Amino acid sequence: MAAKGKDYQPVERSRHSTVKVGDYLYMWGGSGLPKVHNNEEKKSKSSVMDVCHLSTGRWEQKLTTGNPPLGVITYAAAPIGNEIFYFGGHCNHNDCFHNSLYSFNVDTFDWKELSPTTPCHGPMMKSLSDMVAIKINSEDYLVVVGGRGPSNNVPNQPGAQYRVFEFIYKKCNEIHFFKLSKGQWISPTVTGDRPPPTYAFTLTSINNSSAILFGGLAANGVSNNVYILNFTDTSVNCSKISDPRLCICMQWPETRQSHSSVLIDTSSGPHLLVLGGFLTYDCWILDINNKSWKKLSNLPKNIIWRCFHSLSAWSVTPTTSWMIVFGGHTSYRDIAVFELKYTSNNDWSTSEIPLDQYQEKLQERRREWEVSQPVHLEDKREIDRLRRLLEEKERELQEERRKKEQIRNRLQQQLQEKEQQLQQLQQEGKERERGIQEGCRKREQDL
Ligand SMILES: [Zn+2]
Repeated sequence: MAAKGKDYQPVERSRHSTVKVGDYLYMWGGSGLPKVHNNEEKKSKSSVMDVCHLSTGRWEQKLTTGNPPLGVITYAAAPIGNEIFYFGGHCNHNDCFHNSLYSFNVDTFDWKELSPTTPCHGPMMKSLSDMVAIKINSEDYLVVVGGRGPSNNVPNQPGAQYRVFEFIYKKCNEIHFFKLSKGQWISPTVTGDRPPPTYAFTLTSINNSSAILFGGLAANGVSNNVYILNFTDTSVNCSKISDPRLCICMQWPETRQSHSSVLIDTSSGPHLLVLGGFLTYDCWILDINNKSWKKLSNLPKNIIWRCFHSLSAWSVTPTTSWMIVFGGHTSYRDIAVFELKYTSNNDWSTSEIPLDQYQEKLQERRREWEVSQPVHLEDKREIDRLRRLLEEKERELQEERRKKEQIRNRLQQQLQEKEQQLQQLQQEGKERERGIQEGCRKREQDL
C-alpha cells in the first residue's frame, strides 16, 4: 500500500484477521509467530499491532501493552466501538487451543483478558470459529459460533452437536453469547435450521441483531450453505436461505472453506462479498434480501488466488468500496486493493487499485463523487432565495442611483440659476457705476 521502499510494510502471514475501526485497519497475529505455548519471544512478537491508515494507505507498527492472547492464529475477532475482541484460536504449537476472550483498546493499545482459557465454562477451546458483535436493548454481546478443537474438550453445551474427526479433533455447532456488561458466557435458545457442526466458515454481521453464515467444513464435508441468524437477548433463530442443490437454475458459488467475507451496504440493501477459499479461487457477491448470487469475474489472480487471508471493506463513497486483501496461504501473500462499485443498473464493477496510485485514485474517486452529486432540493431553495435577494438589492440600488441623479440635476439647475443671477447683478452693478460716473461728470460740468 505504501509506494516507497523505505515505508513500513507488515510481514506476510496467514490465519490472522484484520479488523476495521473507523478509518484504520488493525492487523494482529497470524502464522510466523514462535511455535511455543508462551515465552518471552512469543510475547514480544505478539505484542505489536500493524495499523493501516486507510485515508493514506500507509502502514505502521505499534507496540501494545498488557498481555496479548496466546491463541495467535485462526482466532475470531470482532469490533465494538473503540475495542476489538479476540476469542479462542490455536496456540501455534501441537494441539493447543484456547477459549479465552480478550479486548484490545485502539486508543490505549492495551490488552485486557475478559475470560481466561478454561475447561470450566464458556465455549470449547477451539480455532476456526467465528464471532460477531450484536446489540440488543442497548446491551452489547459477542456471539461465538462453531469451530474445531481437541476431542477431549469438556463440558459440552446442551443442545449443541459435536462431531469427532481424525480421532483427536471435534467440530461443533455451539452458539454462545458473551454479555459484556456482566462479563458472562450465556447459552441462548436456538431455534430454526441450526447449522451442523462446522469450522472455517465466515460469520458476518448484517446489523445489530442479525448475521450471515456461509460455507465452512461441515459435518458432511465442505459446504456452500447460507444461514441467516437472528438474535434476541436470549435466543437465536437460524434460517437456511435455500438448499443450493435444489437451485441448479441459479448461480451459486462452489462449496468452500477458509475464505473471507465482508458486508457491503448499498441503496438496495445489504450484500455479502465472498473472496477465495481453499482451492476455490474466485469472488462472489450475494444480494441478501433477494437471495441471489453473482460472480464477479474480472478480478486478477493476485486478488482471488487466496485462502486463510484477511479481507476488509472500506467505503470510499456511498457507491464505491475498496477491499483490502492481506496475506494468505497461497503464493500470493502481499497486500492487494480492489475497488467494488455499485452501478445504477443493480450491477457491480471491479478494478484493481495499484498500490503506487492509492492516494491519487482515492482523491480522484472522491472528486468524481462530489461532481456527480445532483443539487438537492434544499440547496435549490437556498439558491432561489439568494437569487431573489440579489435581484431586490439590484432594484434598490437602481432606485437610489435614480434619486441621486435627480438631486444632482436639481443642484446643477440651481447652480446655473445662481450664476445667471450673479451675472445679472454684476451687469446691474456696472450700469449703476456707469450712471454714477455719468452723474458726477454732469455735476462737474455744471459747476
Ligand atoms: Zn499452547
